[in-house]
Amino acid sequence: MLRASIKEVWSESDAYPIYEGRVGASPREMRGVLLDAAQSTAFKCLNPLAVVEEIYALCQRKNEFDWLQQDIVTGGYHDVTSFRDTLDERLLGASEYELYVASGVVDEEKYAELLERYVQHVSAWVKKERLYNRATQKSEEPSEDLMGEVERLLDVQGEPLEWRRQLISGVAAWAIDHPGQKVGPAAVFPQHLKRMRESIFVERRQAVATLARDIVLFVREDGSGLDAQRRREAEGTLERLVSRFGYCRECAVDAASMLLRKRFDDLTF
Ligand SMILES: [Zn+2]
Repeated sequence: MLRASIKEVWSESDAYPIYEGRVGASPREMRGVLLDAAQSTAFKCLNPLAVVEEIYALCQRKNEFDWLQQDIVTGGYHDVTSFRDTLDERLLGASEYELYVASGVVDEEKYAELLERYVQHVSAWVKKERLYNRATQKSEEPSEDLMGEVERLLDVQGEPLEWRRQLISGVAAWAIDHPGQKVGPAAVFPQHLKRMRESIFVERRQAVATLARDIVLFVREDGSGLDAQRRREAEGTLERLVSRFGYCRECAVDAASMLLRKRFDDLTF
């Protein structure tokens, strides 16, 4: 099969010589980027922020590289600026997520659990059944408060009847497609979990941003202006960034400082 396709691959770029993938930064140039990033005086470690900075610097050297001189083609081809910005966005997104989790103001497991309870309540509600509450050892009506809270986080509009029915048929359809697998909301509704996370992130944004600023003050400015409580919280978050996500302290502060500049720059403290 491979042999039969050689001709096709060989000639696929005939009509368009700068076919995507034919031109671009060479391994040697990327190695240069990594070496320069490792030697950057702005960062203590070879951290991803340093690599992104060097990629930005490389992209400035238009006269030296053919691949920086190509016209952008519809669909994002040869769009070096957009690749670079996408990379930067992904990096920011990953750091932001890690900071939220490490901050302790959002508990990933708690809202997975909340979604699971929500599905149980909705299931009983749709079937007009009662739920057995293990804590009180009584059967109870499904909780409108709990369902309403999750629907608010999921931004469900209007009457929830149709939404709830569809949710339960979604569970049933998933179970048919995945025989023998345990039905867990995280597996069945990853998009809802993501949505809940985003809503919770929006609500906690100011608190997390303040923590990012405290981390920078705590390490870089000797904690000036921070009371004992805020020092403890900054220290706790730093420790979790190190133990859970593999940052060193310096790189954790670099990430916090970058988020303050690029993601939390609209907030005031
Ligand atoms: Zn580091």
